[in-house]
Amino acid sequence: MARLWYRGVGALLLAILAFAWSWSMGWTQPKAGLDLAPAGLQLQEVGRGVYALVGQEDIPPPPDRAFVNAGFVIGSEGVLVIDTLSSPQLAELLFATIKSLTDKPILYVLNTHFHPDHTGGNAVAAKQNIPIVGRGRIRELMAKANPQLVPPNVIINSETEFWLGDRRVKVERVEGHAKGTDLVVYVPDAKVLFAGDMVFNQRFPFTGDGNIKEWQGSLYRLITTYPDAKVVPGHGEVGDVSMLRAQFAYFNFLEQLALSWKAQGLTKEQAIAQAQEIPPAYRDYKFQGLYGGNPNTGLQSNLDSAYDQFSRSLGIPLLP
Ligand SMILES: [Zn+2]
Repeated sequence: MARLWYRGVGALLLAILAFAWSWSMGWTQPKAGLDLAPAGLQLQEVGRGVYALVGQEDIPPPPDRAFVNAGFVIGSEGVLVIDTLSSPQLAELLFATIKSLTDKPILYVLNTHFHPDHTGGNAVAAKQNIPIVGRGRIRELMAKANPQLVPPNVIINSETEFWLGDRRVKVERVEGHAKGTDLVVYVPDAKVLFAGDMVFNQRFPFTGDGNIKEWQGSLYRLITTYPDAKVVPGHGEVGDVSMLRAQFAYFNFLEQLALSWKAQGLTKEQAIAQAQEIPPAYRDYKFQGLYGGNPNTGLQSNLDSAYDQFSRSLGIPLLP
């Protein structure tokens, strides 16, 4: 009996010691209770120390649930965070996820463009004095979109490298989606491309601030520069460059459609009314309100952008 008791106490002591040891070592297992599913988020390791948080919701999302992606790269000296999701609450969850995986400090936060669904959690980074990096007129455009947002305090306008200790991360400019604020992030040693909103996977893209022709050019360059990359889109599941090709093809479809409207001499109202039905190839896409228009979102539709950008001949005055 006494021996059994000793054995029990011994096991308990061992358990306490193991707990104390893991505590002192900054144990890096995800914390119990850090449940991402209720926020509509899924964590994926897309390369060694490279993670995506993938928002599962359609738009408009229920409150405090994610329809947008973020990511982070862990190097030997620290972490780079890519986008802060759409609210401080979701950003807190992103930062807690990072803390559950590493005890390295967050060195930088980068915004892939100015839209509030990707920058809405910047305040959480600012509170911790973490530099926030963006491009072009991002400060001005964010202030216009929502003065409550915290804008980047580091502006980069050319190709840039971040070193996270032993790990190099490349940041480069792309064009066409968000008024000269678009950046993509590439991690060479893991072949992972964070494409921001240059690509929406299985979702209609938001084209209301875009220039589709320029966007096409940048998609083409990304496809040819990073043919083997794993791609984390701004919205939708992680995949490969085939999603960039799919979006390229979708833009070609919009262009052809708009040229046919032009040939028929349709007004914008006639054209959009005639094209409301979503083609079979895109019926499973999320964000359907962005295709033909949804008065509830107030966002410019893809058909609207196509008419403006392809049905009119630039430089030639419109005839009534
Ligand atoms: Zn977005």
